[in-house]
Amino acid sequence: MSTTANQVRTIIPTVDLRAQYDAIREEIQAALREVFDSQQFILGPQVQALEEELARYCGAKFAVGAASGTDALILALRAAGISPGDEVLVPSFTYIATAESVSLLGARPVFVDIQPDTFTLDPAKLESKITSRTRAIVPVHLYGQPADLDPILQIAGKHELKVIEDNAQAIGATYKGKRTGSLGDLGCLSFYPTKNLGAYGDGGMVLTDSEELSKRLRSLRSHGESRKYFSEEQGWNSRLDEMQAAILRVKLRHLDAWNAARRANAARYDVLLASVPGVATPRVAPGADHVFHQYTIRVPRRDSVQKALAGQGIATTVYYPTPVHLQPIYSSLGYHEGDLPASERACREVLSLPMYAELSRAQIERVAAAIKCALQ
Ligand SMILES: *Cc1c(COP(=O)(O)O)cnc(C)c1O
Repeated sequence: MSTTANQVRTIIPTVDLRAQYDAIREEIQAALREVFDSQQFILGPQVQALEEELARYCGAKFAVGAASGTDALILALRAAGISPGDEVLVPSFTYIATAESVSLLGARPVFVDIQPDTFTLDPAKLESKITSRTRAIVPVHLYGQPADLDPILQIAGKHELKVIEDNAQAIGATYKGKRTGSLGDLGCLSFYPTKNLGAYGDGGMVLTDSEELSKRLRSLRSHGESRKYFSEEQGWNSRLDEMQAAILRVKLRHLDAWNAARRANAARYDVLLASVPGVATPRVAPGADHVFHQYTIRVPRRDSVQKALAGQGIATTVYYPTPVHLQPIYSSLGYHEGDLPASERACREVLSLPMYAELSRAQIERVAAAIKCALQ
């Protein structure tokens, strides 16, 4: 009996897509059979049905499928009129795609610090960054927690800025009773496989209440065509395919149950970690319904805690080790260490623990015990 074999059997991954697939295998295979039998693969009935179902689910009038969450952001920014020379306010503590979609269009991402307790954009830090070139704000609902949208929308209204929600991590979350992604001018979803609603490949979607914007999005995602083979502006190919849409329609039926299970798992972690000195568990802001895409704690000596957990067969991830304003791609923007202290500190302290709907009580207990042990 080798201990290595024993440890391999009991590894706790950060996310377990296999466990989810095991529960929905028959439904997925039936949905895929339907697509194969139809032999329609691009922008067909599955994509149209998913667009309608997700618009309804998120409380938006229109939804437009795209090839990825990154493309959804680029499409939304383009539809909002963002062009070279414009400035767009974005948090620095996020995935690179939030800022990259801005700079890809030749616009300048202007980085804003976060609230340390919620990890989301700090509305109090916004107004000092607004100039005559500012056109939009992109709040990120990081880890599944809604950013504080009311003051953000109020500032945007006052300065006539567009609000584009990066809702890649928070599908199903609500802010004061309303689903995220439907509160700004445009909202973006990612269906990257490990997201709360994940495809079996890449995919994304843009939500909006504006018919005009939805038409522009449909045109942009398909070569700027206002009708077939008639291009009015520069677009590109960013389409969601029928297989991904069919899979996502199956999974959408389970999303609320999975998000509820994530919340229950988070509540278990909260109880078990409450008494561990040094550990800060996630704070859920009043009015926010968090869907725990990640369960992210702050810990002292984070890297050594992570290493100790790995030694116990417990996988964890650091989202994100480097703030976006200090990434090499943005060195020409002139930011320095110390410019956004809350974001920089978060990068040093955060650790995301295993989190998925199928995580068992015993697994959560093992993770919590290992953290306690690592900090002793
Ligand atoms: C995943 C993610 C994206 C990008 O989505 P892709 O589908 O991977 O292109 C954008 N923003 C955030 C915050 C994300 O987590």
